[in-house]
Amino acid sequence: MTCLLGCTPADLVELMASLGQKPYRAKQLQEWIWKHRVTSFEEMTNLPPALREQLAARCTLRPLTVQEVSESTTGGTRKFLSRMQDGHLVESVIIPAAVGQGGAHSDRITLCVSSQVGCAFGCKFCASGLLGLTRNLTTAEIVGQIVAAEAISGTRVDNLVFMGMGEPLANMDNLLPALTIILDEHSLNIGARHITISTSGNVPGLKKLAAFGRPLRLAVSLHGACDEVRNQIMPVNKKWPLGELVPALQEWTRTSKHKITLEYILIQDVNAMLTEVDKLARIAHLLNAKVNLIPYNTVEGLPWVRPSEAACRFFCKQLIAKGIPVTMRYEKGHDINAACGQLRLRKVQQNEH
Ligand code: SAH
Ligand code: SF4
Repeated sequence: MTCLLGCTPADLVELMASLGQKPYRAKQLQEWIWKHRVTSFEEMTNLPPALREQLAARCTLRPLTVQEVSESTTGGTRKFLSRMQDGHLVESVIIPAAVGQGGAHSDRITLCVSSQVGCAFGCKFCASGLLGLTRNLTTAEIVGQIVAAEAISGTRVDNLVFMGMGEPLANMDNLLPALTIILDEHSLNIGARHITISTSGNVPGLKKLAAFGRPLRLAVSLHGACDEVRNQIMPVNKKWPLGELVPALQEWTRTSKHKITLEYILIQDVNAMLTEVDKLARIAHLLNAKVNLIPYNTVEGLPWVRPSEAACRFFCKQLIAKGIPVTMRYEKGHDINAACGQLRLRKVQQNEH
């Protein structure tokens, strides 16, 4: 069965052609899927009944069902867990825009999506890495998280970040068609500048993403400013060390109008020592990048420790003093385990016991 949420406009034309239909039928189908968000073929009233039956026999309209929505008591984030047709679970997080001046709530939301079930990259601090890779998400399952979030929130997703479970650039075959659908003005229609892809430093993937040729934003999970630190916590660095990653990122900045964001989790005695400030500043300068500092979110069963708030603030101040644009983010929704992979990890553990 083909899930229509994973079909690009060209795929829909091809599907209709395979059923002996003219291209205008593909346009009609696209309107039912994206404008009306129908969940059954019977609702597609301007398609002939025989065609609706043919479609229903071959295609589905939803690739996942939302199993659980948990609301944070602070910050307004909502995390939802979706069940794929084969029973696997993935998580996505709905993050409201900051509360405006005077306390006015904005309707704008950012969605954090997953790209894989688990992750093969095995970063030592990450709950997704801990479980290894189960499988890639399909194009429909990536796009389906956005459709589900819009149904849950009753509003459109304005910003999209690929910062959930998985390494998006290790799933290019499904990521690129998903981006085509997300960007298409008659499908999800989210602007490239509102989409951030986060990678742990997958160099060949970065090159393919650059060749895709759309002005997407890029975040890089750096977490270490020298090979010694990165090797300790991110096995991916052994494959593509900083000597390869930094030039690939410089190449990206040559064509991109946006600054790259370097994500840097602060972990006590691993990468939060003041000796690392200069090295991090050097890389940020080279790339003309901004740095996002994230005090480590504790993961059950892992030995890593979040530095004190004062230590995090001091690290931040030192970096700012080097002229680097820095933000420090205390995870919104810490109380619902909003860090990468944690909700699913808890579920899997519950199921196993
Ligand atoms: N695989 C991609 C996309 C996932 S993004 C990547 O690594 O960039 C998820 C982000 O959360 C990454 O920056 C990751 O390093 C970070 N992260 C993982 N575990 C975390 C934790 N326990 N505390 C804070 N951030 C964490
Ligand atoms: Fe995978 Fe990213 Fe987690 Fe590393 S940080 S294990 S690349 S999801």
